[in-house]
Amino acid sequence: MFHEAPRPGLSIEITSLINSPYVNHAGNLKNCYLIYQADFDEDCAHGVYIKNCRDILDSSLILQSELCYDSMHSYKNSRCAGLRSQVSESLDCFFLRDSHGCQNCFASANLRNQKYRIFNKQYSPEGYKEEMKKWDLGSFAKYQEAKRISEEHWKTLLPKPHMDDFSVNSSGSHYFQCKNCKECYEIWGPAEDSKFLFMLSLPPIKDCYDVSAWGNNLQLSYESCAVGQDSANLKFCVESGLNAHSLDYCQFTFGGDNNFGCAGLRKGKYCILNKKYSKEKYEKLVPQIKKHMDEMPYISEIRNSKHEIRKIIYQYGEFFPAELSAFPYNDTLAQRFFPLTKEEALTQGYKWLDEEKRTYPITQKAGDLPDHIKNALDSILQEVIECATCGKGFRIIPMELKFLRERNFPLPRQCPFCRIDEKFSQWIKNLRVIPRTCDKCGASFTTNYTQDEAPVIYCKTCYNNEVI
Ligand SMILES: [Zn+2]
Ligand SMILES: [Zn+2]
Repeated sequence: MFHEAPRPGLSIEITSLINSPYVNHAGNLKNCYLIYQADFDEDCAHGVYIKNCRDILDSSLILQSELCYDSMHSYKNSRCAGLRSQVSESLDCFFLRDSHGCQNCFASANLRNQKYRIFNKQYSPEGYKEEMKKWDLGSFAKYQEAKRISEEHWKTLLPKPHMDDFSVNSSGSHYFQCKNCKECYEIWGPAEDSKFLFMLSLPPIKDCYDVSAWGNNLQLSYESCAVGQDSANLKFCVESGLNAHSLDYCQFTFGGDNNFGCAGLRKGKYCILNKKYSKEKYEKLVPQIKKHMDEMPYISEIRNSKHEIRKIIYQYGEFFPAELSAFPYNDTLAQRFFPLTKEEALTQGYKWLDEEKRTYPITQKAGDLPDHIKNALDSILQEVIECATCGKGFRIIPMELKFLRERNFPLPRQCPFCRIDEKFSQWIKNLRVIPRTCDKCGASFTTNYTQDEAPVIYCKTCYNNEVI
């Protein structure tokens, strides 16, 4: 994932994208559309954080899966839909939560290596087939009903308290194969001896501190964002990596080593502010620059809502000041995790993006779409459909219609952004760390479920004793 040239706003590895428009933070894609934070995917559309997948639609946080629809936080599944909250290594399953190794299961939770379950109840293969005739998921009404009653059913079962499979001595939320990793969120390891990591995947990840996004063999890196791939010792860097070593304050810098304050550099060595020096000169200048940064720091003046001024001093060792970001606050993940009003954002020195008003004719209301996918005509591709949620217009794209027909799922009533947003909002909830007490043994632990969402919850030990 890198830029061909410095170009804030889009981060794509152009040379490895084949027929994949509207993607960002992405590389190694073929026939993909509107996906973000994605790597090594083919025929995937409408989602965030999709890695090593094929034929995935309207799904987010998906790893090594194929032919899945409307799913999230699930791994190594095939021909599934409606998966939520960690379902893995399953086949031909619909509306499962917290399940593993299942085949032909429907509307269930907490299953381990099961077949032919409906609402967690065991059926014979014939009985399952007969019962499933009632659930033709090609119908929008049936699909919505199945989704709603599955969610109701899940609530009657114990939720898995913590998503930390194959991890030891670690904390945070949704981390896998982590060892000695503290306050880490959405990490797909193996990762070890690290702290304050967010959205890192593709191992190994070792000895990193305060790093957000990417990974893929990243070591000894600190206070950086979107860095990775066979890189080490990156400090205060943004969008840099690809066999890069010992970079300080670099942006869009790929390959090379020992560079300071560079932007858009390729395979540079001993460069300061993109100018090349000898090794001796570089090693003499860099300590002088660091000393200078400490003596004459950049100072931000941040106003709060009462217009009181707070000064932030940026000496060597601080990440870039927020006001130097090329991105408007409400156009970043920050707005989803820490929402601000326009006034609050501007007061605090951030940029803001006012939404562009667009006018176009709506040719079809979402409510007028055929209930069943079998009644969708090819001409649907020409319609501008009004999103049932936000009212904006959207189109069905050819790969989407093909997927929905082949897999027998209904035409969407929401625009792609509202569909992505549904999973994104759930993801934010999934990353919460909420202190709870085990209703079985009284132990204290943390989970992402509130009291309202899970009135009864067990600690990991009690959950495992009960479920596995
Ligand atoms: Zn919408
Ligand atoms: Zn317990």
